[in-house]
Amino acid sequence: MPVKTARPEELEPIERASRDEIAALQLQRLCWSLRHSWDNVPAFRRKCEAQQVHPDDLRQLSDLARFPFMTKDDLREHYPFGLFAVPRERLARLHASSGTTGKPVVAGYTANDLDHWAQLVARSLRAAGVRPGDMVHNAYGYGMFTGGLGAHYGIERAGCCVVPMSGGQTEKQVQQILDFRPDAIMVTPSYALVIAEEFARLGVGPDDISLSVGIFGAEPWGEGMRAELERRLGIDAIDIYGLTEVIGPGVANECIETKDGPVIWEDHFYPEIIDPVTGAVLADGQEGELVFTSLTKEAFPVIRFRTRDLTRLLPPTARAFRRMGKITGRSDDMLIIRGVNVFPTQIEELILGDPRLAGTYQLVVSRDAHLDALEVRCELQREAGRMGAAGRAGVAGELAQRIKTRIGVSAQVTVLDADAIPRTLVGKAKRVIDERPRPA
Ligand code: ADP
Repeated sequence: MPVKTARPEELEPIERASRDEIAALQLQRLCWSLRHSWDNVPAFRRKCEAQQVHPDDLRQLSDLARFPFMTKDDLREHYPFGLFAVPRERLARLHASSGTTGKPVVAGYTANDLDHWAQLVARSLRAAGVRPGDMVHNAYGYGMFTGGLGAHYGIERAGCCVVPMSGGQTEKQVQQILDFRPDAIMVTPSYALVIAEEFARLGVGPDDISLSVGIFGAEPWGEGMRAELERRLGIDAIDIYGLTEVIGPGVANECIETKDGPVIWEDHFYPEIIDPVTGAVLADGQEGELVFTSLTKEAFPVIRFRTRDLTRLLPPTARAFRRMGKITGRSDDMLIIRGVNVFPTQIEELILGDPRLAGTYQLVVSRDAHLDALEVRCELQREAGRMGAAGRAGVAGELAQRIKTRIGVSAQVTVLDADAIPRTLVGKAKRVIDERPRPA
């Protein structure tokens, strides 16, 4: 199937602007955003005053480095609405993230914010090769999670027909895809794999699946997973990135013609990469923590929000905006096992490198006496059929060896039957079970 690259006239003018034009727009919007927060968010103003910096100090984009960071702790402290910059009557919608620990993060939107968000998700769909008139199956969860409704209104804005399926009910999802024949699907990569497994169970091959594009995000996934999803569903697999604090899905999206990392919609979100320890701004190309400043958001502006996502900024390719590398992990997802930093996605890549293994896995970390122990639970591909104990031991031994040489940790690998690991049918996959006692 030919790749549906957007023609230049289909792009918004800013998507093909010069870097100077983009920087000028960013500076103008950044001045507005800082002033808006200063005038309307007392907690932001207090932090600026403590750091002796004022919105008038911003003369060029790099001056942003003088302003204070905003962290997840700030959001918790001001839960639920303390960082909103508009009165309650101007809110048009609320969303919340799951909040892995403690209180959830609540995001508010004005009607203008929702309008921008739909525009950016529509832009993301276009980048992914979706065109007006296409039908899009939306299997992101509806509700407080930004994924479902965020994708929904963007799909409509793109001139497409949305199938508002939400997550779960896998058999029904698959039947509906077979009956309605949608062109594209939006879903987490882990759930996309569950859907692919259900197609395989029914004996439906990739050529008989109508989908040509999958737009996957909300959790980290690597090139191994891309290859697996493309092979099993017969699609182009495209990465969409976003987070509740910044707006939801559609902060950045990959272009189908290059598949070289999500393009950041820099006209609305200004990115920086910082050293997670010192907070110093790093040059493009260097790996560090991604920080975002919203440029147009009214209800819930974020200034230098520390995402904890680790990646790097890459030069523009298919669009005028910079790209981000694949997220290697969230700094809070990083496991430290006997002193070695391990990201679940690193192990995922090694698992998917073995054609006998499926992409679903779990990492169980425990403490044996005083030492951390890592168990990697993975599954045989259904096509691998039944395998005896000796065969499994061989697969497990090979994977353990690769983990040891490539990542540097010893792991006990358990190879289970196909479908043995519980699937996450709604929301994000739970890859890590950390059984270590929490520090007092
Ligand atoms: P929560 O913080 O509860 O998980 P969010 O939905 O706001 O709720 O999650 C946003 C986070 O999800 C991002 O900060 C990032 O860690 C992860 N994420 C979202 N999209 C992607 C993606 N395409 N690749 C990797 N990680 C992603």
